[in-house]
Amino acid sequence: MDLTEYIRDVPDFPQPGILFKDITPLLSHPPALRQAIDQMGERCAALNPDTIVCIEARGFLFAAPMAYKLGVPLVPVRKRGKLPYQTHSVTYDLEYGSDTVEVHVDAISQGHRVVIVDDLLATGGTMAAAAKLVEQTGGEIAGLSVLIELGDLHGRDRLGGYEVISLIEY
Ligand code: AMP
Repeated sequence: MDLTEYIRDVPDFPQPGILFKDITPLLSHPPALRQAIDQMGERCAALNPDTIVCIEARGFLFAAPMAYKLGVPLVPVRKRGKLPYQTHSVTYDLEYGSDTVEVHVDAISQGHRVVIVDDLLATGGTMAAAAKLVEQTGGEIAGLSVLIELGDLHGRDRLGGYEVISLIEY
């Protein structure tokens, strides 16, 4: 099955000039969702992770079933102020302004091999911040897994050194 058939392009969302990759058609088509989860899970398993870290919010949708299948802990990275316990945080630049991501200080065991999961890799800023957060918390990056990679934005270059796995490339 060609998963690109289940990704809808929405121009000028959330702001003019952005071509938003809408994954809701894939989510609502069970065989497509199953294929995406199975393939992301298989490729993630090859990295032999101890823990899966997921990025708010659409990363959660893929990471939770992957962690379930692999039988490893699932750790959420969330936007500032959402996690209830003590956190580590990393602030990173956006095109306009900045954003902060956080993780619980005790969420990752020292030296655990971590795969970070998100729905989409664009400029790589979000993934780079999440990777910094994982390392700050004591984990080692085994790899980065996304459903969609926007190749033109060269996010991969910003993540030099880490293994990046994507199922769909534009
Ligand atoms: P970046 O930090 O630039 O790599 O952006 C990645 C994050 O922003 C991911 O969590 C995506 O969900 C979201 N994102 C960025 N660009 C798009 C896009 N064109 N379509 C859908 N989501 C996007």
